[in-house]
Amino acid sequence: MAENSWNGYLTKMETENVGSEYDVVPKYFLSLNGVRLEMNQFIGKHVSVEYAGQIKCIKCGRITKKSFGQGYCYPCFISVPETEECVLRPELCKAQLGIARDMEYATNHCLIDHFVYLAWSGGVKVGVTRFHQVPTRWIDQGATHAVKLCRTKNRYSAGLVEVELKKIMSDKTPWQAMLKGVEDENLNLLFEKDKALEYINGKSLEYIPETNGLYRITYPVNEYPVKVKSHSFDKESVFSGILMGIKGQYLILESGTVLNIRKHSGYIVTVKVE
Ligand SMILES: [Zn+2]
Repeated sequence: MAENSWNGYLTKMETENVGSEYDVVPKYFLSLNGVRLEMNQFIGKHVSVEYAGQIKCIKCGRITKKSFGQGYCYPCFISVPETEECVLRPELCKAQLGIARDMEYATNHCLIDHFVYLAWSGGVKVGVTRFHQVPTRWIDQGATHAVKLCRTKNRYSAGLVEVELKKIMSDKTPWQAMLKGVEDENLNLLFEKDKALEYINGKSLEYIPETNGLYRITYPVNEYPVKVKSHSFDKESVFSGILMGIKGQYLILESGTVLNIRKHSGYIVTVKVE
């Protein structure tokens, strides 16, 4: 096999912050079959990712026709703690009541401090993250600005704060705007934070407000596309072109075609760089 060709199944890209605490600059890594590829160096080069037609469950390793919950076979999807309902909907967490698919997992993932945050990722959104996932969580979403709103003692309490704030703001990432690099010159996240804290005040929620600290995240993107089109390996097996940048969990090609690496977790591929 050529030196610039790698095989393996996709998993979420990992990042390292090569900036500072509040001025975050992510360096991306894609692991394939034990090789950790630094992806930033491929920007400006011709990259191809070819799907081999098989999906390997990222939990148990069995080959599955369809991926459930971004990389799991169906039996794993309905049983492992990584795909429990509260992953997507923290307010449904029952770990604080001693109920979970795996209590040991829940103790480490749900019964720990969480942050409710506000971020700009093509629009303002509210979200919840485990305390040690800052700034990883924001990088994964392609946020360019973020601020912690408050700290809670578990996932459930953070979920309740989020549910309340969803009444006045979105909890979704507008991925197309995010990938086109849409910014708002008038954005003032600290002002949004004050508004949000005022809104949840007196609603008998359990949280500790966070002190002000604005995070800025700068992505390795040479140029943002005017139009974006999401590539699906279920429809087309080859994703290839000049890599213009990486943002969130997406590879962005010159053509505006983007590949969500995380969404294709478990997909067996060959990556080539010319
Ligand atoms: Zn499995």
